[in-house]
Amino acid sequence: MSECLFCRIVAGEIPADIVHSDDRFIAFRDIDPQAPVHVLVIPRDHIATASELAELDPDLAGQLLATATRLAGEFGVADAGYRLVINTGDQGGQTVHHVHVHLLGGRPMSWPPG
Ligand code: AMP
Ligand code: ZN
Repeated sequence: MSECLFCRIVAGEIPADIVHSDDRFIAFRDIDPQAPVHVLVIPRDHIATASELAELDPDLAGQLLATATRLAGEFGVADAGYRLVINTGDQGGQTVHHVHVHLLGGRPMSWPPG
């Protein structure tokens, strides 16, 4: 059994509110939402970070971005605007070491982040 939380969600071993599933990616609602829309989009395969993803499979990186933006449309936040975030490494705030895009929308976003 994998020790990676998100691999376990992919495998169906841990429940999640899955909002999208295809042969390469799944997306599910964040358990601690920071906005009215807060969805995590992840590759099914275990890849730890954005850096590894871009190096190993740039096509998959592009498809991940495209999937996240498509979901923004499906969740109705594309016109108002939204934020995509990929926390990377410790100082980047990454706590789950399976690459994921946060799709945040439904409220105004401040900048810069804390
Ligand atoms: P990050 O800090 O960028 O690694 O983001 C990890 C995200 O995963 C956080 O926003 C958590 O709230 C979220 N998270 C942790 N456990 C779960 C879970 N079981 N289901 C859904 N989201 C989770
Ligand atoms: Zn994983």
